[in-house]
Amino acid sequence: MQARVPVFMFHHVEADDASTHRSALFVSQSKLHEIADWFLERGFESISVKRLAECLDGGDTASLNRKFVFTFDDGARNNFEYAYPLLSSIGCTATFYVPTDYIGMSSDWRKKKNRSFEIMGEDEILALSRDGFEIGSHGCKHTDLTALAFAELNRQMLDSKAVLSGLIGSDVVTFAYPYGLFDARVVECAKQAGYSAACSTIRGATQDSKHAFILKRIMVTEGTGSIRLRYFMSGLLDFEYRKEFRAAVSG
Ligand SMILES: [Zn+2]
Repeated sequence: MQARVPVFMFHHVEADDASTHRSALFVSQSKLHEIADWFLERGFESISVKRLAECLDGGDTASLNRKFVFTFDDGARNNFEYAYPLLSSIGCTATFYVPTDYIGMSSDWRKKKNRSFEIMGEDEILALSRDGFEIGSHGCKHTDLTALAFAELNRQMLDSKAVLSGLIGSDVVTFAYPYGLFDARVVECAKQAGYSAACSTIRGATQDSKHAFILKRIMVTEGTGSIRLRYFMSGLLDFEYRKEFRAAVSG
């Protein structure tokens, strides 16, 4: 079963008047609002990745009609400061993917020191969860999972799930591959660890129930506007990246 449910990928959100340099991973609060509004005005409703996976698994195409998903990778504190209040105020849900070794700390996985950022602490993650936002795992260390020996890969899949599930008091069931890197072994390990779905970074807006561990996503930048959104929703993005998806599926 296939369903056109765009899963948008964000990383950092900042105030509209922020003076800091915006990398491609930053969007302003008003851009986030604009993307949400584009869908809300057309009668779409936001759902979590967990809900998307449930509907794909159950073959429930009706429930996936006119739905969209917002995801935030890396657990940056600015998600809590700028995305959370906005999304709450407009009735939009989202899934936040957190690398658990960094909870309440600064990132250090990027080579350039000035790219380090603060990551949400336990209280902030718990507040998001209590307000109905899904918390998902982004592994423990934000490493390339395909490069890990099985024992460490499996440990990160299980430990990150246990840490987050323990924190929020309910089972964490979806995953986002750090850097979008995965292979057949990583997918199998995620399944065995008890996840129900995982987000890739392969582009497209159409999800396939047979490939819930290779959910396609669409990266949003400050330049993403109405024309691009129409393009994403037309199915042309899936067509453009069909070879990447096929290669990933065949593993
Ligand atoms: Zn990441």
